[in-house]
Amino acid sequence: MAKSILIVEDEVGLRNGLSDSLEAEGFEITLAENGAEGLEIARNTEFSLILLDVMLPEMDGVTVAKILREENCYTPIIMLTAKSQLDDKVTGLRSGADDYMTKPFDMEELLARIDVQIRRGEAAKKAQKVVSKKSELTVDLKRGFVVVKGEERQLYDQEIRLLDFFYKHEGEILDREQLLEAVWSYNGDPSTRTVDVHIARLRQKIGDVGDAAKYIHTIRGKGYKFTAP
Ligand code: CA
Repeated sequence: MAKSILIVEDEVGLRNGLSDSLEAEGFEITLAENGAEGLEIARNTEFSLILLDVMLPEMDGVTVAKILREENCYTPIIMLTAKSQLDDKVTGLRSGADDYMTKPFDMEELLARIDVQIRRGEAAKKAQKVVSKKSELTVDLKRGFVVVKGEERQLYDQEIRLLDFFYKHEGEILDREQLLEAVWSYNGDPSTRTVDVHIARLRQKIGDVGDAAKYIHTIRGKGYKFTAP
């Protein structure tokens, strides 16, 4: 099945250029020329990935990404930012974007990043859909809850973001700084201790406690590693 990409970009030349180049790579392309339109389309259609410009009429890209994440849409988002918009990288990633590209960008590099994000998105989605009978834990990030031995438990936003990040990096050792950056953003001053506290709570919630933790593994001196249920 062809991978689908939503391009939200108000500069007509760039929008059409991206559309042509990505279509030539075999992607199915949908176009939106402002933030409000992009949000509406993203709400109603599932895409493999969203390319989202930051400076957009109607609604800026950062807001679009934020709303989509708040509505538990976990489609991978790559932000497109102008070089002058220095804070965009930070703001964009904090709003829920997975990656960013600074304009003008190299098409080959964009394609490589699109590939990475689509693969991660698919892995995360698959993980959400799998309901194994053997598994004592079912995770539904879209609806924001887990089922532990038949009992449904609601997840908090940070727990959803934490699990989402874990799924996208399954099997990788993630240090506390990375988790802080991904889940709590750069701002404020949550310490790495925050990470430990939240992970301890999350473990309680998903029943991953005791000597034989199955999903969230502590890697001494390094951080955490996640194994999907
Ligand atoms: Ca723009």
